[in-house]
Amino acid sequence: MRIGVIGSGIAGLVSARKLCDAGHQVTLFERQSSVGMDAHSLDISTADEGRTVRADVPSRMFNEAQWPSLWNLYNDLGIESTGVCSSQTFSHFPGNVFLTLEQAIKPTALIGKLLDRKSQRILTAAAKLQKTGAQDLQQDDQLASLTLGEYLKQRAYSDEFVREFLYPTLSSTVFTCSFSAVANYPAKTALQILQNLTRETTLLKTRFGTQDATTRMLQADIELRLSCGVKEVECLDDQVRVRLPDGTTEFFDHVIVATQANTALKLVKDLSNNEQEILGSFQYESLSVYVHTDTDWMPNRRSQWGTFNMLVSEDRNAAMCSVWLNRFHTDWQIDQPVFQTINAFAQPDPEKILAECVMQRPIITPHSNQGWDAIDTLHQQPNRRIWFCGSYAGRGTPLLESGVMSALSVVEAVDTARVGSVS
Ligand SMILES: Cc1cc2nc3c(=O)[nH]c(=O)nc-3n(C[C@H](O)[C@H](O)[C@H](O)COP(=O)(O)OP(=O)(O)OC[C@H]3O[C@@H](n4cnc5c(N)ncnc54)[C@H](O)[C@@H]3O)c2cc1C
Repeated sequence: MRIGVIGSGIAGLVSARKLCDAGHQVTLFERQSSVGMDAHSLDISTADEGRTVRADVPSRMFNEAQWPSLWNLYNDLGIESTGVCSSQTFSHFPGNVFLTLEQAIKPTALIGKLLDRKSQRILTAAAKLQKTGAQDLQQDDQLASLTLGEYLKQRAYSDEFVREFLYPTLSSTVFTCSFSAVANYPAKTALQILQNLTRETTLLKTRFGTQDATTRMLQADIELRLSCGVKEVECLDDQVRVRLPDGTTEFFDHVIVATQANTALKLVKDLSNNEQEILGSFQYESLSVYVHTDTDWMPNRRSQWGTFNMLVSEDRNAAMCSVWLNRFHTDWQIDQPVFQTINAFAQPDPEKILAECVMQRPIITPHSNQGWDAIDTLHQQPNRRIWFCGSYAGRGTPLLESGVMSALSVVEAVDTARVGSVS
């Protein structure tokens, strides 16, 4: 079949690759000038003997426990991974470091060490959450209806722990959204991800960067069209019409819309009320990301710098994370420190900004299940030719994993539709 895939984030790349491997003729459209998953990454020229290094933006991580489909995909395609040193610091912004961790949240390993009382309190609460969280995931029937905020309140976790440690960690790394959105996350999803992140301490990144990963995903007979933002997608009786920026149209047997849900809503013509309602139910938040060299956004003493440095606002209502990129990209051989600050609630020294962008992230709530169920049901409709996938559409936290999962399920549905139409 002739299949068009719109968007080359992880979901579009996986859909295109799998459908191409299954023998279909695939065209992948991307509105940006480079592959979507790597479009914000940055080549940085440094003073160190004129070396150029490439920073992955955003600096994404994974492990086998939380990202099993991504893990399998990368292994199948020979995309190598390497461990990330996950040392962390927590500071007030502006202010001093109040907690350092050598590893990803592994609180029990630290309790009893020579720590001040605040650190002891926070780590004791973190250890309790790790232990009772695991039990509650097994035993608590009420969990499914609770938000994370409600759960933490019910279990009497202190404001200090929640607003200076837990929410800063979740809001500026794995969920990348506001504190209020973190509080609204389904308790079950949040506890599950915390378990998966703490069970295995080693976080991974792609060894040769995002560009290598996307290149390998595209090593197939896929027609990639960059700088080609699709204007409109319309379902006709037995094909799908795609309108391109130069005014021309092309026809496909199926089209997979692998953009964000809010973009899909505008892109597809004549969506039914049901489709509009489903796509509209996925909400997004915007966040700022800076790549910069401003050391004021790091702990005062360089000896304290971790790979991930959480900076908590004075009012304890927001947090950002400065990733020390030289530590994240261990292959960089440069002295100049470079940082990536995610979820920035302030701006670094403009002279020291190398790049900035605004990204959007889906936010989920205990009601998100209904949206995921509805998308599954939609994709079972007979004679379907337009499909929706993306990290928003896979169950659980919107990460690379849910992007891969939703792409795989659409690929399967397209194949089932083909079998149906043949028989
Ligand atoms: C700061 C930050 C840090 C993150 N860290 C991690 C992490 O550590 N681990 C992890 O697993 N996940 C992480 N994520 C989440 C992860 O990056 C996303 O979930 C994932 O990349 C989304 O992929 P996607 O394919 O669903 O969508 P997208 O990547 O948004 O892809 C959609 C693509 O569609 C293209 N497009 C839109 N409209 C059109 C059009 N009309 N025509 C053609 N193309 C179009 C867009 O340009 C884009 O390339 C992070 C996200 C952020 C913002």
